[in-house]
Amino acid sequence: MTLFASSKSSINLPLDSFEGYQISIKREDLLHPIVSGNKFRKLKYNFLKFSKQKQIVVLTFGGAFSNHLAATAFAGKESKVQTIGIVRGEEWKTKIAQSSTLDFCQAQGMQLYFVSREAYRQKEASPLVQTLIKKEHNLKILPEGGTNALAVKGCMEILTPEDQVFDTICCCVGTGGTLAGLIESAATTQKLVGFSALNNPNLALEVKKYTSKTNWHIQDHYTFGGYAKYTLELIQFINAFYQQYQIPLDPIYTGKMLFGIFDLIKTNQWVWKKKILVIHSGGLQGIHPMNLQLQKKGLPQLLYSSD
Ligand SMILES: *Cc1c(COP(=O)(O)O)cnc(C)c1O
Repeated sequence: MTLFASSKSSINLPLDSFEGYQISIKREDLLHPIVSGNKFRKLKYNFLKFSKQKQIVVLTFGGAFSNHLAATAFAGKESKVQTIGIVRGEEWKTKIAQSSTLDFCQAQGMQLYFVSREAYRQKEASPLVQTLIKKEHNLKILPEGGTNALAVKGCMEILTPEDQVFDTICCCVGTGGTLAGLIESAATTQKLVGFSALNNPNLALEVKKYTSKTNWHIQDHYTFGGYAKYTLELIQFINAFYQQYQIPLDPIYTGKMLFGIFDLIKTNQWVWKKKILVIHSGGLQGIHPMNLQLQKKGLPQLLYSSD
């Protein structure tokens, strides 16, 4: 299996400098066109393990635009591991063509099951997953978002020794696995700031499952109302950012983080040191299906180049 065979590191680009601030961005989004950013990191050790076992079936969970589902489907195909995706929302069963993510997952050979929001919330405890567990003896469950100890281990490979020159490191937070890996691999003199993409008051507890260090903070004022929620202001920010720096951002994670970073600086609320490394964790596969939604609502679409 070549996808996860080598260890990879991504380039840091100087983004901007002004008033004592020096901001660089680590282009983890360029690691791989599909298994991009932190999803590569999170799946690497999980799939290296799965591919050593015989006849494994990997089951995981995600929404109709989930970066994690797309990455898992692709990793499964590459590593010859069968995958099952439990998709949030029964209505998507007849709308696969409207989500390039689901379409892609199916094309990789992932078997999709569409469940109600209620059943989705139950995860492993739902009757469907219980049936699948009984049916497949070698079923392995990857949690939603892919966070587990092996995922955190993979995320410890995002930073390199050269990154010790930065004093503040910013990342996006969904389940907290990426932040945990960064905390574990950063120097204790560095400060990690995680920008939450959703409203989950228990995020800090999740992170504490994987680290006992305390040099980190979760900033939760830039969730824009919750997971996958957005405003016109956010869309406009992402497009202005793309025009200024030629770097695409996704509306679910990285757009919210960069909006937050610049907003905190502009409003004099940045309380950390000013040599900043921003982790671009990818997520760009979600732009296309999001644009279909924006188009339907008559809102401006997100700018990005697909090459
Ligand atoms: C999944 C994802 C995240 C969230 O990572 P966690 O480890 O779950 O916190 C952040 N950024 C992007 C682009 C993602 O796709």
